[in-house]
Amino acid sequence: AAYFGAGPALLPTSVLQQASIDLITYLSNPVGVGEISHRSKDAINIIDSTKAHLSEILNIPDTHEVFFLQGGGTTGFSSVATNLLASFAAKTGKKGQPAYAITGTWSKKSYEEAARLGLEPQVATNGINSKFTGIAPVDQWKKLDPETTPYIYYCDNETVNGVEFHAPPVEATCDGKIPLVSDMSSNFLSKKIDVSKFGLIFAGAQKNVGIAGITIYIIRKDLIPQVGTEELNKLNIPITPIAFHYPTVVKNNSAYNTIPIFTVHVLNLVLKNLLANGGLAAQEKENVEKAQLLYGVLDKHPQLFNLPVAKDSRSKMNVVFTINGEGKEEEFVKKAGEQELSGLKGHRSVGGIRASIYNAIDLETVGKLTKFIEEFASA
Ligand code: PLP
Repeated sequence: AAYFGAGPALLPTSVLQQASIDLITYLSNPVGVGEISHRSKDAINIIDSTKAHLSEILNIPDTHEVFFLQGGGTTGFSSVATNLLASFAAKTGKKGQPAYAITGTWSKKSYEEAARLGLEPQVATNGINSKFTGIAPVDQWKKLDPETTPYIYYCDNETVNGVEFHAPPVEATCDGKIPLVSDMSSNFLSKKIDVSKFGLIFAGAQKNVGIAGITIYIIRKDLIPQVGTEELNKLNIPITPIAFHYPTVVKNNSAYNTIPIFTVHVLNLVLKNLLANGGLAAQEKENVEKAQLLYGVLDKHPQLFNLPVAKDSRSKMNVVFTINGEGKEEEFVKKAGEQELSGLKGHRSVGGIRASIYNAIDLETVGKLTKFIEEFASA
């Protein structure tokens, strides 16, 4: 059986087997990993080891800090906005207006959250009129002013629309003067990235690297200090709830309050598995091959399959397409199900078909899908 759901998504079987053992008894504890104190030595070791593995895999420089928060990607939308405004105020004494590249459902939601919080965000680019089928070249984006722009935000992979940045939009940062903030929830650790180029990266674990319950943050250390409550009130910047206050979380090594340690442990097992299988270079190579194979088969049948996303913005994680002909999509999903290929229905907001081929889906499994697609096309 093969599952192509968009998230929560599959994890490597060996990871799940180890996790299920550790859930019952962990190391020399009389109880399982989810039952130990978040202040115990074993829990701290899990946090530190997970951070170390992330640093090793991504080559995270000393200029950056890793921490974890609960609440998923959506908490990232709100927490980025309030924390980074408070940090911009610490540097400049000003409120500023953050800028957003709106390239799909999730960056749109993040922009809307910043607006809801009263931040009057700027729009750097907006693909809504072209139904999020591509990304405008960065030189056509709004020119931003580093003096008044606390950060430029984008979503590296739009899970719903199947739109991915093939390179981060560093040109939008005014030579690095504006911190680049990236939501990598659905393509984190799918490819190599240069962390030094980013002010902040966040990623919910439940797609490529774990189960729901924890979000990974990588922040440039100079963005951590913030102004206090009095200054925030004066500048009309919303106050960050304490559990999501980056300086507090960082100072307490991600355990200011009870961290879901089982979830972090699963993340750590995924990271160890990735390292044992050749690290990011090997993973990226396989992901490229998987995407080429799948898009290749779909491109061979343009009368039947319609791929809406421009080639230079196609996602290597979420392959989105529609099928021409009355009832064809239902038939595709049904026939795929008969061959134990599931999770292929597109997001309820856009319809169509979506095959999510995250890290845990290997080339062989994508091969099963492409074989089915060939059969479907020639039936
Ligand atoms: N960002 C991206 C790119 C996503 O794909 C998702 C969820 O699918 C989210 C954010 C929201 O994540 P959560 O449901 O964990 O809040």
